[in-house]
Amino acid sequence: MDAKIYDMAKVQNTAQAQNKALVYDDRSKVYDVVVVGGGAAGLSAALVLGRARRRVAVVDAGAPRNAPAARLQGYLSRDGMPPADLLAAGRAEVAGYGVESVEDQVVGIDAGFFVRLASGRVLKARRILVATGVGDDLPEIDGARQRWGRDLLHCPYCHGWEVRDQPLGVLGTLTGSVQHALLVRQWSEDVVFFAHTYDLSSAERAQLDARRVRIVSGEVVRLVVEDDRLAGVELADGRVIARTAVFLRPGNVPHADGLLTGLGCRLDEAGFVAVDATGQTSAFGVWAAGNVVDPRAQLITSAGAGSAAAIALNAHLVQEDVERAVAASEPADGVFSAAMEARVSRMVLGDRRHGI
Ligand SMILES: Cc1cc2nc3c(=O)[nH]c(=O)nc-3n(C[C@H](O)[C@H](O)[C@H](O)COP(=O)(O)OP(=O)(O)OC[C@H]3O[C@@H](n4cnc5c(N)ncnc54)[C@H](O)[C@@H]3O)c2cc1C
Repeated sequence: MDAKIYDMAKVQNTAQAQNKALVYDDRSKVYDVVVVGGGAAGLSAALVLGRARRRVAVVDAGAPRNAPAARLQGYLSRDGMPPADLLAAGRAEVAGYGVESVEDQVVGIDAGFFVRLASGRVLKARRILVATGVGDDLPEIDGARQRWGRDLLHCPYCHGWEVRDQPLGVLGTLTGSVQHALLVRQWSEDVVFFAHTYDLSSAERAQLDARRVRIVSGEVVRLVVEDDRLAGVELADGRVIARTAVFLRPGNVPHADGLLTGLGCRLDEAGFVAVDATGQTSAFGVWAAGNVVDPRAQLITSAGAGSAAAIALNAHLVQEDVERAVAASEPADGVFSAAMEARVSRMVLGDRRHGI
């Protein structure tokens, strides 16, 4: 896909279908990179790109994954910081390098690239970085959504220390729930595995028994809360098992995956976008980083992935800038040249080309 090829009719038709007026930015204003999502991954990328003197916009819908948590943990030098403070500091840092922060939602990206926002604004970009994170699917248990990130938790590396030695529970839901219970056991000797909807094998029972994780059968219906703290877990038969925190493995769905599939990015078997070590997707000019690529990535890992993607993106742009400069310096009669051959080769073969 060449950066110059785009389908304006498609952009306009989509906007008309949504009954919205498109507000085109100044035609001369082409961002080097539009970053979709301003969490740890997106802002880290924007910092590197801004410092590389690229014209960058970060469009963010304002719902980072860890927003329900009071504090973020495990991020070297920021351990214990409120999540909103990390992002506020990040936004201030990127603004210092001229990065534009746009509070909006990206609703579509058309080839070329034209980034359509919910407000009707359209941003034009040479490259795209998608850093939109994931959504956490929670079970239909009374109180689950309200307690999420407080005392209904998923990650012991994020919250285990804060609830160490307490009476903990692990909810059986998806594959991997027993492994999760055996992991949580590292933080407390008092762990209950609530089988809930999980069908335990005899080998799994043996593992839980061996590590003295108590198994409680029956469906969980409610998280019992007293004085705004988790007090217990209620089962369908009315029993309440006293617990102060419960862990579970949520299902994860990439946010705005339609943006990536719409651009033709290949997905892996798990339904997440397939990328190389730098976050480059299978679509020309499109990178992805953070939880949208890997739901297990922590804040610091997501920030690192954003940084790595930014460095690769800048190198890609440098290469294009060189090719354009060489093409512009050649005679205008359009005769064959090595630079023209290299450009055509890059457009047709992408990364499969050999170096001439
Ligand atoms: C409850 C909870 C607590 C956690 N605590 C910790 C912790 O203590 N330490 C730790 O290391 N990790 C923690 N994590 C994991 C952490 O949240 C992730 O590692 C991190 O948020 C991933 O960063 P990201 O930039 O990929 O995505 P996010 O931080 O989720 O940011 C994505 C951003 O993209 C925006 N967005 C999505 N779609 C669009 C769109 N179409 N247009 C524009 N913007 C869009 C979202 O609104 C969001 O602001 C926690 C997770 C949860 C669920």
